[in-house]
Amino acid sequence: MIRKQIAAANWKMNLKWAQAEALLHDLFKVPLTISSNQYVALGVPFPYLSLALDYAKHNIRVDVAAQNSSQHQSGAYTGETSAEMLQSMGVHYVILGHSERREYFGETNALLAEKVKIALQNGLTPIFCCGESLDIRESGNQNQYVANQLKESLFDLSEFDFKKIVIAYEPIWAIGTGKTATAEQAQEMHAHLRSAIAVQYGSEIANGISILYGGSVKGANAKEIFGQPDVDGGLVGGASLKAEEFLQVIAGLKE
Ligand code: PEP
Repeated sequence: MIRKQIAAANWKMNLKWAQAEALLHDLFKVPLTISSNQYVALGVPFPYLSLALDYAKHNIRVDVAAQNSSQHQSGAYTGETSAEMLQSMGVHYVILGHSERREYFGETNALLAEKVKIALQNGLTPIFCCGESLDIRESGNQNQYVANQLKESLFDLSEFDFKKIVIAYEPIWAIGTGKTATAEQAQEMHAHLRSAIAVQYGSEIANGISILYGGSVKGANAKEIFGQPDVDGGLVGGASLKAEEFLQVIAGLKE
């Protein structure tokens, strides 16, 4: 089974307009050499979505991702952004359940189940983030904890919908800390999640789902981590803010 290999940038709440323009310019000044199974997702802040879409339209394997969307379809929710709006402007992905949103904005597995559903109903592809804290890792309960995040937010989906999801495993202790999980730790969790998915949806669907790793991925370690059999690329924060570095991450994707 050939799975999509994806290098997804997560700019978070960084960069002013001119810096965003310069980064996109530097990323695409030389046409990307990526093979037919490799994809790039640009997770930019809402004000820069149109700008990123302008660059993405020149390459069919480059798509744009929002970093959040509402659990509501539309209406009186001041300050919120709907999945329908994002889809209508050409955005392909939405990052949901990032640990920063879980921690600082109180997003629970139950809320994320609603956000995932509404995103799918409106034609977006969720990049669903999961991952354990250091405490949980140290207690040895990480496999059960992360599988439960999938269960509570995703396993009510029909097979048809579940197949569209991209998962990003991001151990919280590795995000923005410069401390990556080892390639073995990433592989072990990804294989565990894939087997939990197989129990729920069968092995054909489990083998088709892209599971990205996130947590201090950079140019120098991307190839080793992405080279693991169950790691299908990465979700990249800090290193996606520098063109050279992110291009190296993209170059680390498996064929
Ligand atoms: C992230 O925020 O998704 C992330 C993985 O950040 P960093 O690459 O900076 O650790």
